[in-house]
Amino acid sequence: MRFHILYEINNQMSTAPLSGIIEAVTSFERPKTAHEAVLQEIRQRMLDGRIRPGEAIRPDAIGAELGVSAVPVREALRILEGEGHVTNRPHRGYVVAELDIADLTEIYRIRDLLETEAVRQAIPKLQADDITELRKIVAEMDEVGDDMVELTAVNRRFHFTLFEAAQMPHLVRLLRMLWDSSDRYRARYLRVPENRQQAHDQHHRIMQAIADGDVDRVIEEKTLHRAHAINALAEASAAVLGDAQSTA
Ligand SMILES: [Zn+2]
Repeated sequence: MRFHILYEINNQMSTAPLSGIIEAVTSFERPKTAHEAVLQEIRQRMLDGRIRPGEAIRPDAIGAELGVSAVPVREALRILEGEGHVTNRPHRGYVVAELDIADLTEIYRIRDLLETEAVRQAIPKLQADDITELRKIVAEMDEVGDDMVELTAVNRRFHFTLFEAAQMPHLVRLLRMLWDSSDRYRARYLRVPENRQQAHDQHHRIMQAIADGDVDRVIEEKTLHRAHAINALAEASAAVLGDAQSTA
């Protein structure tokens, strides 16, 4: 395959020492299948804005560009369709889903409920090592700058290192699904410099509350963190709709 294949090594190493390492090593040694690699590439393009909402994705064109047939591209698109990132329209084919603020509001509301529970369970279980790791990730985030793919990945690592400390794998799995379905909106939010600054300040406040072991403050700061994102996205979406109406 001509385009580079990315291997999945996530942060599980830091939180689930043995099984995490085994899983990371196994997946590192196993190259991705064609459709997994295509899936990763399309996800990346949606995150960094190379593929935009409303844009059509042609399996044969993407396949030709990546040096694979249209078959693995279709497989990848079917997965993205299941996650709500693309829709398959008659005559138009696969189209990147537009920002739907009602969907996003619902996803954020469910996250409020689940993340609050995850934090409540996680804080009392945090070890000194976890705190050190979380501080490291916050410092890493300060260094990332405006690389959206990297920033969304490190941001995700920060929040999930905390969630995983709850030792509730089913809850964490549900949270991953919710984050997967809203990843590209988060990238859109973080692309705005003021939002990035805001998120940066909030991460430091969340970190301080974690270090103090103050469950209620962590919950409160994380609730504000999500609220700022969803409100900014709702405003951006209203502005886009306003533009569309005035130019129509
Ligand atoms: Zn964050």
